[in-house]
Amino acid sequence: MRSVGVFCGASPGGDPAYTAAARAMGSAVAGRGLTLVYGGAKVGLMGAVADAALSAGGEVFGVMPEALMDKEIAHEGLTRLEVVPSMHERKARMAEMADGFVALPGGAGTLEEIFEIWTWGQLGFHAKPAGFLNVMGYFDHLRAFVDHAVGEAFLKAPHRDMLIFKSESGEMLDALAAYKAPVTEKWIGRPEL
Ligand code: AMP
Repeated sequence: MRSVGVFCGASPGGDPAYTAAARAMGSAVAGRGLTLVYGGAKVGLMGAVADAALSAGGEVFGVMPEALMDKEIAHEGLTRLEVVPSMHERKARMAEMADGFVALPGGAGTLEEIFEIWTWGQLGFHAKPAGFLNVMGYFDHLRAFVDHAVGEAFLKAPHRDMLIFKSESGEMLDALAAYKAPVTEKWIGRPEL
């Protein structure tokens, strides 16, 4: 693994612990000599993860859709900032550039981005890991919901197990590096779900 894609809130959240966790993740990524790939913003947890990686001497690539350049305030100090025409292209570029993905606490955008990575992995379009950094139990309910989806036979257990939940950034990076994609394909053996 040479690069990590981080999805996280464009807001800082309601507790300083979220910013602290984003900074810890940025430092850990840079400390391991990995490139950080993220949305390119200066605001919220997005800015915090990038600033920490840069301060630790890391390489940071940002990908920003043109329409959000003002709203999310593009970070001016990145190793490289790519401005792309659309949100679809931002996600495609990030998916291509990073070898593994982590969601830090965030809102609808964060969830949409990490779920896309997970669902594409489930379909066998790529073999890259997706994790949730479970800062202060932020993702506990989501994890319980995913279990519920398995219980209700909308999701296979091996696909649920693709998701990595860790509360500490070093453990998360270890788990991403050790990840092996399951062989279970979504559409094989469907009737036995
Ligand atoms: P949020 O988690 O909502 O604070 O947003 C975090 C990031 O996700 C920001 O860079 C948003 O631009 C991005 N985002 C918001 N909505 C979407 C969406 N529908 N699809 C993809 N990314 C989004």
